[in-house]
Amino acid sequence: MSRPSEKHTKKRVPGMVLTNTSLVKYNNSNNGEYVISGLPRSRRPPTASPTIRLIGIRVEFRPRGRTLVLPHVRVDGTVRPGRYRRRSGGGGQLGLKTACVEMRGALGGTCLNVGCIPSKALLNSSHHYHDAKHYFADHGISVGEVTMDVGKMLEAKAATVRGLTGGIEHLLKKHKVDYFRGRGSLSGPNGVSVALNDGGIESLETKNIIIATGSEVTPLPPVPVNNALGKIVDSTGALEIGKVPGKMAVIGGGVIGLEMGSVWNRLGSEVTVIEFMDRVCPAMDSELTKKFQATLKKQGFKFRMSTKVVKSEVVGDSVHITTEPSKGGDQTTEIYDIVLVATGRRPYTAGLGLENLGIQTDKLGRIDVDSHFRTAVPNIYAIGDCIDGPMLAHKAEEEGIAAVETIAGYAGHVNYDAIPGVIYTFPEVASVGKTEEELKAMNVQYNKGTFPFAANSRARANATGNSEGFVKVLADKTTDKILGVHIMGPNAGEMIAEGVLGMEYGAASEDLARTCHAHPTLSEAFKEACMDTYDKPIHF
Ligand SMILES: Cc1cc2nc3c(=O)[nH]c(=O)nc-3n(C[C@H](O)[C@H](O)[C@H](O)COP(=O)(O)OP(=O)(O)OC[C@H]3O[C@@H](n4cnc5c(N)ncnc54)[C@H](O)[C@@H]3O)c2cc1C
Repeated sequence: MSRPSEKHTKKRVPGMVLTNTSLVKYNNSNNGEYVISGLPRSRRPPTASPTIRLIGIRVEFRPRGRTLVLPHVRVDGTVRPGRYRRRSGGGGQLGLKTACVEMRGALGGTCLNVGCIPSKALLNSSHHYHDAKHYFADHGISVGEVTMDVGKMLEAKAATVRGLTGGIEHLLKKHKVDYFRGRGSLSGPNGVSVALNDGGIESLETKNIIIATGSEVTPLPPVPVNNALGKIVDSTGALEIGKVPGKMAVIGGGVIGLEMGSVWNRLGSEVTVIEFMDRVCPAMDSELTKKFQATLKKQGFKFRMSTKVVKSEVVGDSVHITTEPSKGGDQTTEIYDIVLVATGRRPYTAGLGLENLGIQTDKLGRIDVDSHFRTAVPNIYAIGDCIDGPMLAHKAEEEGIAAVETIAGYAGHVNYDAIPGVIYTFPEVASVGKTEEELKAMNVQYNKGTFPFAANSRARANATGNSEGFVKVLADKTTDKILGVHIMGPNAGEMIAEGVLGMEYGAASEDLARTCHAHPTLSEAFKEACMDTYDKPIHF
């Protein structure tokens, strides 16, 4: 079958206004539609600027595949390439005099202290334990009785956190960023007042302010959390459970609930997930999450779906949890040793004084910002969990960098179509771009290709449990441009980077299918899923 790209050799395209920085569609009257993309982000103008114009675009075609577009762009205005200057030191590295205000007493925010990193440390330790107990024998390894010292596991996690937060402090010093330990609030458009942890007030005068105050656990009124008591805990309390609970309820079948549930399930708890919806992680691709839920069930998870918790009571050493069907009906009460509330997080903006400056929040409490992360006060920016978008550390990081670049006069930009999401269970689950449900709702015609890890030689060589899952690729039916990638499998969290990169460069599934992948690797499953998307795979 001939693809549109094979019919043509070279085109000249007249100037156009770039209105969407990640994708421009050019409708050529003779030859149909070309997808023009691949513009490096540092050279992409900010979306809202009317002064930016693509002066000329040279379009070329790859001999054996889809369109390869090389935009040669000159930009009107003040935008300069800036991405190579981006580093984690943010404002400090761009030469801005910068101060950081943090009330926690340790740097690194939720992610390093009570989020991504400590949870992954526990997932790693519990995975080793589970492997040693259940799978080492398959490889001929005998280790005698396998036991878990939970205290030691928690100490290893704490050491990792200490090391990384200390590292951030070192980075701030290196980039000459002043660090104030205390609670900050806005004293005016150019002022931050810091109530220092050690007492006293520090007043800072500044040209620009970035609000990055993150999020907190959303309370679930029938189940009040008390981490100190350790019976009904949130994700922070779940990182400090000192003894493997016999029976654990996880309220909320989202990412955090399933990750923390996995830790304790592997260590021997009977984990029951109570979820209001009819499937876990409802925002993710449904084919993926159905398979994922079935896999967790095989691992021993129990699920009570379409169920809502209406009451809880701590009775001695136990917690009584009363539930009813989401749509109403008979109530049941069950008894657990520990209950984890993991029903979501909400932006944290308490005490900032937003209202005094007329900075608006939406009905979910997220700070309103424009496409350059500016609030209603133009020199005050907001990024991360306290604004709209997925609550993910890498999304917050991209926004932080983009905001600083904008302040420094560069072209800060975040491509929200290419932000991956990962669940670090075993197998891992990772996604980027659109789900099938979203494409159907948008009426987009797409091709779908899949490849199972059961047919991947490296997954098979890695043996037990490693060949669960599949890679699924969704691409535009006409242009073959990749629109979404969904993976369940070992190392899915690493493999998704290939999909993200492909999407950033506007790749077609055929581009990735024709890219040489080392053998034997799990990423060959990615290649084959791409082959299946535009044609057919070799090994299945
Ligand atoms: C258990 C758990 C696991 C997670 N795992 C992952 C994961 O694997 N991958 C991922 O991408 N994301 C994960 N997340 C989400 C991730 O942690 C957040 O998306 C990310 O930390 C948001 O970054 P942020 O900079 O917006 O806010 P935060 O990291 O929350 O940082 C905000 C900081 O501001 C401080 N602060 C708030 N108000 C003030 C004030 N007025 N004055 C001074 N300081 C203040 C807070 O103390 C906090 O340290 C996880 C979260 C949790 C809870």
